[in-house]
Amino acid sequence: MSHPILTALGLDGEQSGTYLGQGEWSKTADAGALQPVNPATGEVLGTVHASSAADYEVIVKRAQAAFKVWRTTPAPQRGEAVRLCGEALRKHKDALGSLVALEMGKIKPEGDGEVQEMIDIADFAVGQSRMMYGSTMHSERPGHRMYDQYHPLGLVGIISAFNFPVAVWAWNAMLATIAGDICIWKPSPKTPLSAVATLRICNEALKDGGFPDLFFLFNDAGTDLSQSFVDDKRIPLISFTGSTKVGRMVGERVAQRMGRSLLELGGNNAIILDESADLKLAIPGIVFGAVGTAGQRCTTTRRLFVHESIYGNVLDTLVKAYKQVEGKIGDPNLSTTLMGPLNSSEAVQGYLSAIEKAKAAGGTIATGGAALTDRKGNFVLPTIVTGIANSHEVVQTETFAPILYVMPFKTLDEAIDMQNDVPQGLSSSIFTNNLRGAEQFLSAAGSDCGIANVNIGTSGAEIGGAFGGEKETGGGRESGSDAWKVYMRRQTNTINYSDALPLAQGIKFTV
Ligand code: NAD
Repeated sequence: MSHPILTALGLDGEQSGTYLGQGEWSKTADAGALQPVNPATGEVLGTVHASSAADYEVIVKRAQAAFKVWRTTPAPQRGEAVRLCGEALRKHKDALGSLVALEMGKIKPEGDGEVQEMIDIADFAVGQSRMMYGSTMHSERPGHRMYDQYHPLGLVGIISAFNFPVAVWAWNAMLATIAGDICIWKPSPKTPLSAVATLRICNEALKDGGFPDLFFLFNDAGTDLSQSFVDDKRIPLISFTGSTKVGRMVGERVAQRMGRSLLELGGNNAIILDESADLKLAIPGIVFGAVGTAGQRCTTTRRLFVHESIYGNVLDTLVKAYKQVEGKIGDPNLSTTLMGPLNSSEAVQGYLSAIEKAKAAGGTIATGGAALTDRKGNFVLPTIVTGIANSHEVVQTETFAPILYVMPFKTLDEAIDMQNDVPQGLSSSIFTNNLRGAEQFLSAAGSDCGIANVNIGTSGAEIGGAFGGEKETGGGRESGSDAWKVYMRRQTNTINYSDALPLAQGIKFTV
């Protein structure tokens, strides 16, 4: 019997994981199947048929045909398509938020929050559709005019991670759509139902609004088709969100064919607490950052640097707060739950292995440190580890689980050095009431991350800012600010309205 959350979204029984365009979902049943598991119970939620190579060819051909029409549709009209998607997502927010919680394992308010992010980026993109500005320049030649403008890029490939099963698609798809592109989505094999539901909701809205196919979907039972996608010269941009390991391979292969890649990879985010920090803000900021989504956000707080003068007090207060969370671990769709399960049993193994490594290196488990074996599902205790150096391999590595390494420091210079001394560069923050310290942290000699905050935590970014990170986080930027430019190609135009043909740099060339 189907789960009621699936029934509410019309996802009873076996599903096709391939949207071919023209209202058709593929009937392919021999390319393997995905069976997403409820991480809170271990039960299989349903079956989603994966796509064949032939399905993929149909998608690319139809997407290419759609692009020829969409690229000349005026951008504000493209904005209207996105507005309709935002409206449809508003209507389905509760049901889709519950599905994200069910399939991924994040708690319901975070599932709803993820759908809200899709709505927010749709709203943002509607406005942006009238503001895709180029620049004008003064030509050095008389009677000449110069400007640059942004044209649609073509087909945009989106490969997404399990932990944000729907929002990552929307961050890319809403902006790519106003840019005049057509999107092909390959979601995580762990969360295909959330992807199918999202695509259906948006495609229904587009159809009702009289718009053509803009969003295609395929699912891969292995990695062969995904690999061909990455290597496909017909896809000028691959936007990849996932681990640094896979992202590095994707970046290299796309570069090999001179394509463009947008990489949003792993983080190893830190908070600094100086001696003036307001603990009323800092403690909840740390707990939400480290424990929220059971430590499975790319922006999860994984390291905490505390000034030595307040270290003991902060640690005691955090341990008490963690004990309160322990009593609220459970079914993500229950309103009393604060922390859900990890998404997979492999993630539980990763968590246990990191804790063993930390202990072997002399680390102390201040709280947590174990999986919950008294129940079904992938539940673990939120964990704080002390007495381990920032340079240790386990601290340098992103373990996608709720483990926080807490370390004391003497000077802010030392804390900033430690916070930067990891391979990743996604999110960072400082809690301080000291203006000089805050400005130093934000300065060119401060945090080296793509995101640097003062008096808020590392996670929970708003869609208005550009989102992404440096170093092994991949360098990509998505969502707000001028992130729309990556989905377009820039063209510089020079127009001569004089009756002479002067050359630039004063070059004379007379025949
Ligand atoms: P993952 O790398 O295992 O998978 C990501 C995607 O890549 C999935 O869709 C997967 O099917 C696909 N994939 C796997 N092998 C492939 C191949 N050979 N070719 C093409 N595609 C392939 O990551 P995950 O476990 O789903 O997600 C967690 C990771 O994602 C964490 O490291 C997290 O920090 C990162 N993440 C980063 C951001 C960000 O914005 N920086 C956001 C969310 C998640």
